[in-house]
Amino acid sequence: MSQRDYYKILGVAKDARPSDIKKSYRERAKIFHPDANSGSKKSENQFKVLSEAYSILSDAKKRKEYDRKRSQKGASRRRSSRGWGSSGANRWGYGFGNQESQGQTRQEGPFRQTAAEDPQPHDPNAPTRGFDLQFMVDVEFVTVALGGTVPYSYEKYVRCESCNGSGEYKEKSCKECQGKRQVVEETHLNVKIPPGVADQYVLRLQNEGGEGINGGPPGDLFLKICTMPHPVFKRKKSDIYAETPISPKLAEKGGKLNVQTLDAVKTIAVEECTLTGEELRIPGNGAAISWGKKRGDLIIKFLIIDS
Ligand SMILES: [Zn+2]
Repeated sequence: MSQRDYYKILGVAKDARPSDIKKSYRERAKIFHPDANSGSKKSENQFKVLSEAYSILSDAKKRKEYDRKRSQKGASRRRSSRGWGSSGANRWGYGFGNQESQGQTRQEGPFRQTAAEDPQPHDPNAPTRGFDLQFMVDVEFVTVALGGTVPYSYEKYVRCESCNGSGEYKEKSCKECQGKRQVVEETHLNVKIPPGVADQYVLRLQNEGGEGINGGPPGDLFLKICTMPHPVFKRKKSDIYAETPISPKLAEKGGKLNVQTLDAVKTIAVEECTLTGEELRIPGNGAAISWGKKRGDLIIKFLIIDS
């Protein structure tokens, strides 16, 4: 019982004043009162839920306790979902499209990095592995949930063709690469997003990093998937949540309703005497489960909106 969102059931904000709660309860109670629904079992139950919500939120002490429990739950959820974002965040560039802030570090970084990290005297002719690159990539919500392919552009070091990777041209330092043997080149990839991958997941694309020097192997490309927010859908693991507004009339009488799922439009049946905050689960219409073809559920939460 305590999992119910009493604020949603009563259709009031979390910081609603007692007078608003009372007003909203009275309005709803009129609609769902068993006397007004010729004793239907469903409306009787819904009236009970409504009364339960009101009994908690109208009592200052009970409401405080209810809020406390809810905020605890919310806080622990937030803590556990905080990954390795903040500390390492500035190591992640944003690839193409966000160049103003990242372009310079991306171009200067790799060479500085090896010089600083290599304690041995550097043999300029030794085969050297190319640089690993790491970028963040914004991916649309539905693509992350169901998988797909996204075009991606980034810059990496490749062999300088002017000097054939020697750094020298006619016994002088190569002008094209300033003797670095490599030049920056824009690269385009179609990146496969595995179905149902988690937000902030890091994809490793082998050998797509910078090219090696003197025949050394290329580095890898690491892409951290950043899910773009969706105006309607929210995701918890493989389940998708959506709030769907319905008219008071539809809520009262019941009827058919078209709802948008991740990849289709479905017709669902709204039961009569539906309350705000009530949920309808549509199995198999959520996000993909663990990179496979199975899918989680779509949970529709009804919001009764006067129009
Ligand atoms: Zn060159």
